[in-house]
Amino acid sequence: MYLYNTLTRKKEEFKPIEGMEARMYSCGPTVYGYAHIGNFRTYIFMDLLRRVLKYEGYKLNGVMNITDVGHLLSDGDTGEDKMQKSAREQKKSPYEIAGFYTAAFFQDMKKLNIDLPERIVKATDHIKEMIDYVSALEEKGYAYRTSDGVYFDIEKFGGYGKLSGAILGERIAGARVDVNDEKRNPADFALWKIAGKEHIMQWESPWGMGYPGWHIECSAMSLKYLGEYFDIHTGGVDHIPIHHENEIAQNEALTGKKSVNFWVHSEFLLVDGGKMSKSLKNNYTIADLEKRGYTAVEYRFFCLNAHYRKKLNFTFEGLESAKTALMRLKKNLAEHKASENAAPKETIEAYMKEFETAIIDDLNIPLALGVLFKMLKEKKSVDIYNAALTMDQIFGLGLGEAEAETDLPVSDGKASVPQSVIDLANERSLAKSNKNYVLADEIRKKIEAAGYKITDGKDGYSILPSCE
Ligand code: AMP
Ligand code: ZN
Repeated sequence: MYLYNTLTRKKEEFKPIEGMEARMYSCGPTVYGYAHIGNFRTYIFMDLLRRVLKYEGYKLNGVMNITDVGHLLSDGDTGEDKMQKSAREQKKSPYEIAGFYTAAFFQDMKKLNIDLPERIVKATDHIKEMIDYVSALEEKGYAYRTSDGVYFDIEKFGGYGKLSGAILGERIAGARVDVNDEKRNPADFALWKIAGKEHIMQWESPWGMGYPGWHIECSAMSLKYLGEYFDIHTGGVDHIPIHHENEIAQNEALTGKKSVNFWVHSEFLLVDGGKMSKSLKNNYTIADLEKRGYTAVEYRFFCLNAHYRKKLNFTFEGLESAKTALMRLKKNLAEHKASENAAPKETIEAYMKEFETAIIDDLNIPLALGVLFKMLKEKKSVDIYNAALTMDQIFGLGLGEAEAETDLPVSDGKASVPQSVIDLANERSLAKSNKNYVLADEIRKKIEAAGYKITDGKDGYSILPSCE
């Protein structure tokens, strides 16, 4: 299979370092708040990559970190610790904040059908490894102390900037004038920060009580679980110029050699054509989508329609189209399932071949989806249904569960109603009790669009499939 490697700026054939094992590190979330749909675009990409590797017969050895400490508000070394800030605002301890949002993250990952990497590792469980790493860098002469911490000396490290193509001079010129004038170079980054008394998460170290820099977390944990040299490292494109550049610097300074073969990055999700931000209130979470009547899987399907290296613009109209398309897809699939016709073996094989060619070409999932849609236009056949389920090993849309929402299994005269419709009905009740009749009406329309009719009675509502 071929993957675009940010390091070499070209598509390269993936060959594991050892046998058929794919060792892969994925930068995980900083758990100071709910992850937004942009973050999840990157984790859906990670999941697709893992599914394709698995489909191609590789044995996965994946690691993802949970950053539950030390990531400052800016990518430089200024600003408050994100965990500390969130804890202060919510009047909780940073540990409670991290625990709560880590659980929320996993719930959303599950809803999105994202298969978790084999190992999930928390930064706070690896402070010793980070201290050992920083000590080793110090011994090798790549780190120096200041009054507020220990910094990596990028000038000492010759290869800085190879991932983003930035040269040291530009990086230095572009760096903000830092408040810390003890740094030898404005672009030097913190390996360890000395903590003030007010800083709750802090640990003993050879440099005093403090906490690790963000970049050292990923270097220390990837080294521990995947070794000095592994196959793939993933993240979003925002990580290229600083976080991953710094990881490379740390890794190569420590071992004196290349640490990762493939650096693979997914492009950003935009919202209404722009950046997501708290102030614009458009940094939507999965719960926000659900509140508007969309499921996490519908969002996943929305993401699958764009290649991971292309920017993707999120709008609710786009999500609505994805929802409708997914519904039609499932309906069509149910008809194939119900058919007893056989499809010619060569037809199925030709579609499968086309599908596989797409997925191994740098994860061309939109093209692979096109193959699925084309295949579904064939004469109805259960063989087509089974081939679609094989393809769904990559898409992860739960197509095998299609009948629950489309066939409406009827027993004792009552149709079972999908949870997504029940959720909508409950939201509508809430809207009505808040006297928000406009919203209630909108939700009713969504329920109808999903093929159900809601009637209000003395004891609450009842839902029935609408007869077409
Ligand atoms: P963070 O928790 O900020 O480290 O982000 C978690 C992951 O989400 C990282 O891999 C980021 O690169 C990625 N990410 C952040 N914002 C977006 C976005 N708008 N679109 C896609 N990925 C994003
Ligand atoms: Zn990382």
